[in-house]
Amino acid sequence: MAQGLRLVLFGPPGAGKGTQAQLLRDRLKVTHISSGDLFRYHLGQGTALGLRAKEYMNKGELVPDEVTIDIILDKVLSVPNEEGFILDGFPRNPHQAEELEKALSGAVRGLDKVVHIEVPEPVLLRRLGGRFVCRDCQAPHSIGEGEDASKVCSQCGGELYQRDDDQPKAVKKRIQVYNDETTPVLGFYRDRDVVVDISGDQTVDDVNQQVLAALDA
Ligand code: AMP
Repeated sequence: MAQGLRLVLFGPPGAGKGTQAQLLRDRLKVTHISSGDLFRYHLGQGTALGLRAKEYMNKGELVPDEVTIDIILDKVLSVPNEEGFILDGFPRNPHQAEELEKALSGAVRGLDKVVHIEVPEPVLLRRLGGRFVCRDCQAPHSIGEGEDASKVCSQCGGELYQRDDDQPKAVKKRIQVYNDETTPVLGFYRDRDVVVDISGDQTVDDVNQQVLAALDA
């Protein structure tokens, strides 16, 4: 049987990776693996992993590799070959990228594409300030200044909340961490000729169309 799509969605916090990942998952029937959602799930459940991750997440820092890599790679390797996956939020530094490559090296092929969603920093800051997330299904929503933040999730009716790490101080730190630690991953994948650059400063639908076109889907 043919192998499913293997995709990394790459970009700064607030680029729209989660939104695009959910659209692609629904359309292409592939597994969506979000490292941030996984950590938030553990945090909500109060597990040891969640408590460990929380101290880093709330400051906008990366959770250490020894905590992160194994649980994400376990998920990746548990996806049936014919199904495929979208990685959202991983890899976030070159070491994670190398470990992912090693884990996939037993497969017939590695990653199909790395879609890099680019968004200027002022736009990211504005978006993250108005971002609310569903407690139940994690769907991100954008609520502008003065709009009613008590809205419920448009997808499942769950309660919307603002993440602690979307507060201004943590947001600045996350963008700095992205610039310093995460952007080198792009060079790693450019060397492997799998990167497609797409502007994320357009409507969700337009970004989605361009991603689908880049995937020939
Ligand atoms: P996200 O929802 O992708 O913005 O992730 C939220 C937070 O989870 C990040 O700011 C990090 O603290 C942590 N996190 C998510 N993915 C990773 C990763 N691949 N490596 C380290 N920390 C991560």
